[in-house]
Amino acid sequence: MDSYLSTSIDLSKVNILIAVFFCLCWLVIAKPLRLYYQSSIRFSAANGFFALSLVLGAQQYAFADANLWVVADLTLLITLVMYNLALRHLLVLPSDPGVIRWLILGAASLAILHILGVVSANYTSLTLLLMALFMLITTAWMKYRALATAFNNGIGAILSISDMSLVLIVAIKSVMWMVDQREDVIAIPLSSKNSPTLMWVYILLIIFINVTAVGTTVSRLIIRMKHLAEHDQLTGLLNRRAFEVKLYDYFALYQRYNMPFSIVMLDIDHFKKINDRYGHASGDEAIVNTARIFKSSVRQTDIVARFGGEEFIILLPGQNATDALEVANKIGHAIRTTAWREDTPPLTVSAGCADVTMVNSQDKLLTLADDALYQAKRNGRDQCVIAAPVKPMAAQA
Ligand code: GH3
Ligand code: MG
Ligand code: MG
Repeated sequence: MDSYLSTSIDLSKVNILIAVFFCLCWLVIAKPLRLYYQSSIRFSAANGFFALSLVLGAQQYAFADANLWVVADLTLLITLVMYNLALRHLLVLPSDPGVIRWLILGAASLAILHILGVVSANYTSLTLLLMALFMLITTAWMKYRALATAFNNGIGAILSISDMSLVLIVAIKSVMWMVDQREDVIAIPLSSKNSPTLMWVYILLIIFINVTAVGTTVSRLIIRMKHLAEHDQLTGLLNRRAFEVKLYDYFALYQRYNMPFSIVMLDIDHFKKINDRYGHASGDEAIVNTARIFKSSVRQTDIVARFGGEEFIILLPGQNATDALEVANKIGHAIRTTAWREDTPPLTVSAGCADVTMVNSQDKLLTLADDALYQAKRNGRDQCVIAAPVKPMAAQA
């Protein structure tokens, strides 16, 4: 089997070609497409360094140069560092260059000591191999933890199998290296001196690792696009479209299970004056601050959204219009007693409340709350009004 596989193709070259291919693919993702630029560039660099380490690994047989071993091992270590940094960025993990910086510094010092003839090639290679193993274990564990948290333990394990397998192989090779420490036993674990079967395993693992990384990048992108589509950029609250989807769901629940809810529509009073007096940027600041007060004044289960410019809406599950009025008054008080900037008087808001038992459609509920809001404006602003109930059509018939 081994001889058949080895005679047909030069597996080391196949591995190099695959690494170069992925290096270019990540560059395309990073440069023209600009998707997760930082992590894509690092994945590209990881594949590039990997290809280089394989080329150097192959050269060490041709020239039997001990310095080449060390450079090849160093390149492999850089590959793993790049892979780790790329994953950190992609999985939104805190970047921890502390350990990595010390690792690179240690490896570079060791390489210099070797070149100066202070440390033997064997010792240098073994230390670099152990460093690579440390980097691999850290990366595999980090990847598993992040994916298990984002999805579940099963998906985390499946997507990390390739990394875990590499850890296992490199660990076994390290032990073998330590037990059988001969001059011709190379430290670089992925070089062409491995058996063809093992080379195939490496090739499949490298492909799988890259494909998993592409998959994770795409899923991150979808999550980010979904978030952008559903949230208001300025305040981070749900936008009108996303709110209307939620409203539709709650209305369906009300019709099916009679689960009541209410809404509060709020509008900042005389906001045009804020923009005119303090400028548009300060107006934005006031909107962000108001949104923060709205969010912190309601329960976790309540839904707060930016409905339009300086108009907001809150959905209160399980609450009737009187409860909603209480919440709106509490919010009104919080707004009027909180300065949004040190040198300016606080804002005020007007609010209109309505509950689902008053209407027979979600559009009517919005209209009702809006009418109540404008009643509050007409009454002199800085106050909250309950909508006048409208008899449902079914009841009218
Ligand atoms: P009222 O008390 O009747 O609500 O008066 P108002 O001035 O608040 O009402 P109006 O709706 O006439 O004006 C709202 C202003 O809010 C107009 C618009 O320029 C401003 N606005 C809307 N969106 C934004 C935004 O994102 N940032 C800033 N700075 N201003 C905004
Ligand atoms: Mg207004
Ligand atoms: Mg308005």
